[in-house]
Amino acid sequence: MISVDRKRLQANFERLLIADGVSKKEDETILVVKRILANIPVDIIENASLSKTRKNLYIRLPKRGDTDSPPILLSAHMDTVEPTTNIKFQCINDLYSTDGTTILGSDDKAGIVAILECLLAIHESEFPHPTIEVAFTVEEEIGLEGAKDFDTTLIQSKRGIVIDADGEPGIVMFAGPSQILFEVTIKGKAAHAGMAPEEGKSAILFASQCIARIPFGRIDAETTTNIGRIQGGRATNIVAEDCFLNGEIRSHNPVKLDIIKNQMKSIFENGNEFGYQVHFQDRFAYKSFSLSKDRPILTQVSQAILDCGLTPQYKVCGGGCDANIFNETIPSMECINLACGMTDVHTHKESVLFTDIERVTEILLAICSR
Ligand SMILES: [Zn+2]
Repeated sequence: MISVDRKRLQANFERLLIADGVSKKEDETILVVKRILANIPVDIIENASLSKTRKNLYIRLPKRGDTDSPPILLSAHMDTVEPTTNIKFQCINDLYSTDGTTILGSDDKAGIVAILECLLAIHESEFPHPTIEVAFTVEEEIGLEGAKDFDTTLIQSKRGIVIDADGEPGIVMFAGPSQILFEVTIKGKAAHAGMAPEEGKSAILFASQCIARIPFGRIDAETTTNIGRIQGGRATNIVAEDCFLNGEIRSHNPVKLDIIKNQMKSIFENGNEFGYQVHFQDRFAYKSFSLSKDRPILTQVSQAILDCGLTPQYKVCGGGCDANIFNETIPSMECINLACGMTDVHTHKESVLFTDIERVTEILLAICSR
């Protein structure tokens, strides 16, 4: 088995941690990735996007030697959520975290560094390997925009692994939900709250009555909804004329997704019959995927996990990731999402065990060297 260069993996992870990479500002991270790969013969295509403006990276390590293994796609996203400015990370007893003033960014730099080490170690070894393709995307955190814009005509693989799930190595996300986003604007009628409240129509009151009636939170095992933001009104002495809110619906079942959306829409739009002006707007954000356990990608990944002395754990994603998009946009693609140890992502408590990054790198090496 090919071994991981632990020192190099750690040094490269730290180089990535201090590189800025907030969504739409991924330049520093891109530079570090290119420097790490500078001495191995990979093809790199920059701006690998249909729009030619998003800075997705496509990387290809051509097949070597005698192998029947088909090409494989590895993917991670280069952007992080905020804040990352002046990040001060620490590593105590193998656990990476920050001083608590910023996020860590192991989401998804743990995935990036595992893929990079996989390419370096495979190249250095004498082992035959299939063509390895890498998609490093931008703007994942703001709606999977990089993956949606990825120039997938570059990709020849029909098996893919996104490394962007939290939890311990060995966890395989084989399914993910669809998502609908919606926005509602409600216009009522302003009036003096003390002198003539009966002349007003409170948009806030109507919004809250609707929220109390719509399906909210955990609907069933495969469906969730949320109102994420609400704002409205101007002052305590004015009956609120305006209210705005937005939210989301997720489900692994497209029929339920539509039923819930229509229920919500009709509850809100009912206000139009009672003197409110209500606009309900929705858009489909991404499509669900679900792969059966006998699909080649799952057999291949599971065997590699077993070879590394771990037990495969199959889970269903609650959120969307680039795997949703690759499964939707690349014909015949089967793409899963693999965990890389990160925990408490998107918070200042985010952390990752370095040994977990090592484990997931070993899994990738086992996948790519068979
Ligand atoms: Zn992520």
